[in-house]
Amino acid sequence: MPAISRPALGGTRTANLAIRRSPALVVVSPDADSAPPPASPAPEVQPLGAPQEPGFTLLSEERLTPWEMDVTEADVVVAGGRGVGGPEGFERLAELATLLGGSVGASRVAVDLGWAPYARQVGLTGKSVSPRLYIACGISGAIHHTLGMRDSSFIVAINSDARAPIFKIANVSIVGDLNEILPALITGLKARSTGTARVAAIAGVPR
Ligand SMILES: Cc1cc2nc3c(=O)[nH]c(=O)nc-3n(C[C@H](O)[C@H](O)[C@H](O)COP(=O)(O)OP(=O)(O)OC[C@H]3O[C@@H](n4cnc5c(N)ncnc54)[C@H](O)[C@@H]3O)c2cc1C
Repeated sequence: MPAISRPALGGTRTANLAIRRSPALVVVSPDADSAPPPASPAPEVQPLGAPQEPGFTLLSEERLTPWEMDVTEADVVVAGGRGVGGPEGFERLAELATLLGGSVGASRVAVDLGWAPYARQVGLTGKSVSPRLYIACGISGAIHHTLGMRDSSFIVAINSDARAPIFKIANVSIVGDLNEILPALITGLKARSTGTARVAAIAGVPR
Protein backbone atom coordinates (compact mmCIF):
# COMPACT_ATOMS: atom_id res chain seq x y z
CA MET A 1 0.00 0.00 0.00
CA PRO A 2 1.62 3.34 -1.03
CA ALA A 3 2.34 5.79 1.76
CA ILE A 4 3.01 9.50 1.95
CA SER A 5 4.25 11.73 4.73
CA ARG A 6 3.31 15.28 5.49
CA PRO A 7 4.31 17.86 8.10
CA ALA A 8 1.94 18.21 11.06
CA LEU A 9 1.69 20.43 14.13
CA GLY A 10 3.45 23.37 12.53
CA GLY A 11 6.22 21.23 11.11
CA THR A 12 7.27 19.78 14.47
CA ARG A 13 6.02 16.26 13.61
CA THR A 14 5.68 14.11 10.50
CA ALA A 15 2.43 12.24 9.83
CA ASN A 16 2.77 9.05 7.76
CA LEU A 17 -0.43 8.28 5.85
CA ALA A 18 -1.37 5.18 3.90
CA ILE A 19 -3.20 5.65 0.58
CA ARG A 20 -6.08 3.18 0.76
CA ARG A 21 -8.04 4.12 -2.37
CA SER A 22 -7.21 4.86 -5.97
CA PRO A 23 -7.12 7.34 -7.57
CA ALA A 24 -5.72 9.61 -4.83
CA LEU A 25 -5.24 13.35 -5.06
CA VAL A 26 -1.93 14.48 -3.54
CA VAL A 27 -1.21 18.21 -3.36
CA VAL A 28 2.42 19.30 -3.09
CA SER A 29 3.45 22.71 -1.74
CA PRO A 30 5.56 24.93 -3.99
CA ASP A 31 9.27 24.36 -3.32
CA ALA A 32 8.45 21.25 -1.24
CA ASP A 33 11.37 19.52 -2.88
CA SER A 34 14.06 20.32 -5.41
CA ALA A 35 13.85 18.98 -8.94
CA PRO A 36 15.69 15.70 -9.56
CA PRO A 37 18.86 15.90 -11.69
CA PRO A 38 18.25 15.59 -15.43
CA ALA A 39 17.91 11.99 -16.58
CA SER A 40 20.69 10.49 -18.64
CA PRO A 41 20.15 9.84 -21.47
CA ALA A 42 17.69 12.75 -21.80
CA PRO A 43 14.07 11.57 -22.21
CA GLU A 44 12.42 11.93 -25.60
CA VAL A 45 10.12 14.97 -25.74
CA GLN A 46 6.91 14.54 -27.71
CA PRO A 47 4.86 17.65 -28.47
CA LEU A 48 1.25 17.19 -27.39
CA GLY A 49 -0.10 19.32 -30.22
CA ALA A 50 -2.19 21.55 -27.98
CA PRO A 51 -4.25 24.10 -29.93
CA GLN A 52 -2.48 27.44 -30.42
CA GLU A 53 -5.59 29.48 -29.67
CA PRO A 54 -7.05 29.16 -26.16
CA GLY A 55 -10.65 28.05 -26.08
CA PHE A 56 -11.71 31.08 -24.08
CA THR A 57 -11.59 34.86 -24.22
CA LEU A 58 -10.03 36.77 -21.33
CA LEU A 59 -12.47 39.57 -20.56
CA SER A 60 -10.63 41.12 -17.64
CA GLU A 61 -7.93 40.36 -15.14
CA GLU A 62 -7.98 41.44 -11.51
CA ARG A 63 -5.16 41.12 -9.05
CA LEU A 64 -5.93 40.10 -5.48
CA THR A 65 -4.94 42.67 -2.89
CA PRO A 66 -2.38 41.59 -0.26
CA TRP A 67 -5.24 41.26 2.26
CA GLU A 68 -7.26 39.04 -0.11
CA MET A 69 -4.41 36.76 -1.15
CA ASP A 70 -4.09 33.60 0.97
CA VAL A 71 -0.84 33.86 2.87
CA THR A 72 -0.09 30.16 2.25
CA GLU A 73 -0.40 30.52 -1.52
CA ALA A 74 1.57 33.71 -2.11
CA ASP A 75 4.98 33.75 -3.78
CA VAL A 76 5.90 36.76 -1.66
CA VAL A 77 4.89 37.35 1.97
CA VAL A 78 5.58 40.66 3.71
CA ALA A 79 5.09 39.90 7.40
CA GLY A 80 5.00 42.23 10.37
CA GLY A 81 5.42 41.94 14.10
CA ARG A 82 5.28 44.20 17.14
CA GLY A 83 8.01 46.37 15.63
CA VAL A 84 5.61 47.51 12.90
CA GLY A 85 4.01 49.71 15.55
CA GLY A 86 0.31 49.54 14.70
CA PRO A 87 -2.36 49.11 12.01
CA GLU A 88 -0.96 52.02 9.99
CA GLY A 89 2.34 50.20 9.83
CA PHE A 90 0.54 47.17 8.42
CA GLU A 91 -0.96 49.32 5.67
CA ARG A 92 2.60 50.22 4.75
CA LEU A 93 3.47 46.52 4.62
CA ALA A 94 0.46 45.99 2.35
CA GLU A 95 1.75 48.75 0.07
CA LEU A 96 5.10 46.98 -0.22
CA ALA A 97 3.33 43.64 -0.74
CA THR A 98 1.26 45.19 -3.56
CA LEU A 99 4.42 46.34 -5.33
CA LEU A 100 5.81 42.81 -5.07
CA GLY A 101 2.55 41.03 -5.95
CA GLY A 102 2.47 39.43 -2.51
CA SER A 103 0.43 38.87 0.61
CA VAL A 104 0.60 40.13 4.21
CA GLY A 105 1.59 37.91 7.14
CA ALA A 106 1.84 38.64 10.85
CA SER A 107 3.33 37.42 14.10
CA ARG A 108 1.05 36.28 16.87
CA VAL A 109 1.77 39.43 18.88
CA ALA A 110 0.62 41.59 15.96
CA VAL A 111 -2.55 39.48 15.67
CA ASP A 112 -3.20 39.57 19.42
CA LEU A 113 -2.86 43.37 19.30
CA GLY A 114 -5.54 43.47 16.60
CA TRP A 115 -3.26 44.86 13.88
CA ALA A 116 -3.91 41.93 11.54
CA PRO A 117 -6.57 39.19 11.42
CA TYR A 118 -5.80 35.67 12.68
CA ALA A 119 -5.87 34.32 9.12
CA ARG A 120 -2.58 36.19 8.62
CA GLN A 121 -0.78 34.62 11.59
CA VAL A 122 2.34 32.67 10.67
CA GLY A 123 3.82 30.15 13.06
CA LEU A 124 3.15 27.23 15.33
CA THR A 125 -0.41 28.25 16.12
CA GLY A 126 -0.95 29.96 12.77
CA LYS A 127 -0.19 29.07 9.17
CA SER A 128 2.91 27.44 7.74
CA VAL A 129 4.19 29.23 4.66
CA SER A 130 7.01 28.58 2.20
CA PRO A 131 7.02 31.48 -0.27
CA ARG A 132 9.90 32.27 -2.57
CA LEU A 133 10.41 35.55 -0.69
CA TYR A 134 9.53 36.25 2.98
CA ILE A 135 10.18 39.74 4.31
CA ALA A 136 10.05 39.77 8.14
CA CYS A 137 9.51 43.30 9.43
CA GLY A 138 9.89 44.03 13.14
CA ILE A 139 9.65 40.34 14.02
CA SER A 140 12.11 39.07 16.65
CA GLY A 141 12.26 35.50 15.31
CA ALA A 142 10.90 33.43 18.20
CA ILE A 143 10.87 29.70 17.45
CA HIS A 144 7.05 29.72 17.51
CA HIS A 145 7.14 32.10 14.55
CA THR A 146 10.07 30.69 12.59
CA LEU A 147 8.54 27.18 12.64
CA GLY A 148 5.94 28.57 10.27
CA MET A 149 8.23 30.36 7.78
CA ARG A 150 11.73 28.89 7.95
CA ASP A 151 11.13 26.86 4.76
CA SER A 152 10.80 30.06 2.73
CA SER A 153 13.25 30.09 -0.19
CA PHE A 154 14.64 33.55 0.53
CA ILE A 155 14.26 35.48 3.80
CA VAL A 156 14.83 39.20 4.24
CA ALA A 157 14.68 40.45 7.84
CA ILE A 158 14.39 44.09 8.89
CA ASN A 159 14.92 44.72 12.60
CA SER A 160 16.39 47.54 14.70
CA ASP A 161 18.09 45.04 17.03
CA ALA A 162 21.22 43.55 15.45
CA ARG A 163 20.99 40.60 17.86
CA ALA A 164 17.42 39.64 16.87
CA PRO A 165 17.24 35.84 16.38
CA ILE A 166 15.46 36.28 13.03
CA PHE A 167 18.81 37.30 11.53
CA LYS A 168 20.12 33.78 12.13
CA ILE A 169 17.86 32.40 9.41
CA ALA A 170 17.81 35.45 7.11
CA ASN A 171 19.46 35.50 3.70
CA VAL A 172 19.55 39.31 3.84
CA SER A 173 19.70 41.13 7.20
CA ILE A 174 18.79 44.80 7.38
CA VAL A 175 19.49 46.41 10.76
CA GLY A 176 17.51 49.61 11.13
CA ASP A 177 14.26 51.37 11.90
CA LEU A 178 11.30 50.19 9.81
CA ASN A 179 9.94 53.72 9.82
CA GLU A 180 12.93 54.77 7.74
CA ILE A 181 13.59 51.62 5.73
CA LEU A 182 10.07 50.80 4.52
CA PRO A 183 9.26 54.24 3.03
CA ALA A 184 12.67 54.27 1.31
CA LEU A 185 12.08 50.78 -0.06
CA ILE A 186 8.58 51.64 -1.30
CA THR A 187 9.70 54.90 -2.88
CA GLY A 188 12.64 53.15 -4.53
CA LEU A 189 10.45 50.39 -5.96
CA LYS A 190 7.90 52.89 -7.28
CA ALA A 191 10.57 55.09 -8.84
CA ARG A 192 12.31 52.35 -10.73
CA SER A 193 10.03 50.59 -13.13
CA THR A 194 12.40 47.64 -13.10
CA GLY A 195 12.73 47.72 -9.34
CA THR A 196 9.98 45.24 -8.63
CA ALA A 197 11.32 42.84 -11.20
CA ARG A 198 14.81 43.23 -9.77
CA VAL A 199 13.80 42.39 -6.19
CA ALA A 200 11.66 39.54 -7.44
CA ALA A 201 14.53 38.27 -9.54
CA ILE A 202 16.80 38.10 -6.48
CA ALA A 203 14.36 35.69 -4.91
CA GLY A 204 13.55 33.92 -8.17
CA VAL A 205 9.92 35.05 -8.13
CA PRO A 206 8.27 34.76 -11.55
CA ARG A 207 6.41 37.94 -12.57
C1 LIG B 1 2.32 28.04 22.57
C2 LIG B 1 2.75 29.27 21.82
C3 LIG B 1 2.41 29.38 20.48
C4 LIG B 1 2.81 30.50 19.75
N1 LIG B 1 2.48 30.60 18.41
C5 LIG B 1 2.95 31.63 17.69
C6 LIG B 1 2.71 31.74 16.29
O1 LIG B 1 2.01 30.91 15.66
N2 LIG B 1 3.24 32.79 15.61
C7 LIG B 1 4.00 33.74 16.23
O2 LIG B 1 4.45 34.67 15.55
N3 LIG B 1 4.21 33.69 17.55
C8 LIG B 1 3.71 32.68 18.29
N4 LIG B 1 3.93 32.66 19.64
C9 LIG B 1 4.54 33.83 20.26
C10 LIG B 1 6.06 33.88 20.10
O3 LIG B 1 6.66 33.14 21.14
C11 LIG B 1 6.57 35.35 20.17
O4 LIG B 1 6.12 35.93 21.36
C12 LIG B 1 6.09 36.19 19.00
O5 LIG B 1 6.39 35.56 17.77
C13 LIG B 1 6.81 37.53 19.03
O6 LIG B 1 6.22 38.40 18.11
P1 LIG B 1 7.04 39.64 17.53
O7 LIG B 1 8.31 39.13 16.94
O8 LIG B 1 6.11 40.39 16.68
O9 LIG B 1 7.29 40.53 18.83
P2 LIG B 1 8.59 40.78 19.68
O10 LIG B 1 9.20 39.51 20.13
O11 LIG B 1 8.22 41.77 20.72
O12 LIG B 1 9.62 41.44 18.64
C14 LIG B 1 9.45 42.70 18.08
C15 LIG B 1 10.70 42.99 17.26
O13 LIG B 1 10.54 44.23 16.60
C16 LIG B 1 11.78 44.90 16.61
N5 LIG B 1 11.47 46.33 16.44
C17 LIG B 1 10.85 47.17 17.31
N6 LIG B 1 10.70 48.39 16.78
C18 LIG B 1 11.26 48.33 15.54
C19 LIG B 1 11.42 49.27 14.49
N7 LIG B 1 10.96 50.53 14.61
N8 LIG B 1 12.04 48.89 13.36
C20 LIG B 1 12.51 47.61 13.22
N9 LIG B 1 12.39 46.67 14.18
C21 LIG B 1 11.76 47.03 15.32
C22 LIG B 1 12.41 44.56 17.95
O14 LIG B 1 13.81 44.71 17.92
C23 LIG B 1 11.97 43.11 18.12
O15 LIG B 1 12.96 42.21 17.63
C24 LIG B 1 3.54 31.54 20.39
C25 LIG B 1 3.88 31.42 21.72
C26 LIG B 1 3.48 30.31 22.44
C27 LIG B 1 3.85 30.19 23.89
